[in-house]
Amino acid sequence: MLIYVYVNCAFIASRASNFEFLEVPQKRVSMKKAVILLSGGLDSTVALWLARSEAFELYTLSFDYGQQHSRELEAAATVARLAGVKAHRVVTLKLDLWGGSSLTDCSIEIEDGNVERTDIPMTYVPARNMVFLSVAASFAEAIGAQDIFTGVSDVDYSGYVDCRREFIDAMQHAINKGTVMGAEKNMPITIRTPFIDKTKVDEIRLAQELAAPLEHTWSCYRGGEKPCNTCDSCLLRAQAFAKAGVKDPALD
Ligand SMILES: [Zn+2]
Repeated sequence: MLIYVYVNCAFIASRASNFEFLEVPQKRVSMKKAVILLSGGLDSTVALWLARSEAFELYTLSFDYGQQHSRELEAAATVARLAGVKAHRVVTLKLDLWGGSSLTDCSIEIEDGNVERTDIPMTYVPARNMVFLSVAASFAEAIGAQDIFTGVSDVDYSGYVDCRREFIDAMQHAINKGTVMGAEKNMPITIRTPFIDKTKVDEIRLAQELAAPLEHTWSCYRGGEKPCNTCDSCLLRAQAFAKAGVKDPALD
């Protein structure tokens, strides 16, 4: 049994442990806790800084979900450290076992972006936000956090169905039916979606107000030293910075 546990832990720790950490608290005051889904991109980083501005004790959560590169995990760890989070956790989920997305199946090419697209792109990862929010709910309940922040937007996105308000509302309902906190203790969990009806331009302006470190964020679907500037995510980001009249500090 011991050997099984050891082998399992060693396997799970393989990539995620490179990026997660636990900070020793400087002072002990009673603070509300929040779990923030942190991909290392622009949306989640601004969401983290918003939670930070509300004086939550911050617990960031990233996923090593079988994506083709770890560049965003590196960015998430950097951003979490800069935010001074209490803990940054990286959960390994092997969604690449079944793929179904160009982000998790290396046999499918990550296509060049098209901001005019109306169909669902191959970068859509099946039920990704449902899985991530379920794990976030488990983390939140374990530490007694009643707020989960996610940077999803119903306005400025790639057509992903799991970024819509209808889904978020349904997910919050399910979380509060499926946790003791929500169903028995009258401590409902709220999924905070500050950008659900906001554009990336709004987010960039808020990031400037909050001094969020966008220079350390990574949005590109492809790995590498520099963003590719041709995938959907890069194009949406570039378009937003152009509309905001701001230079993208991550491109310096
Ligand atoms: Zn890109």
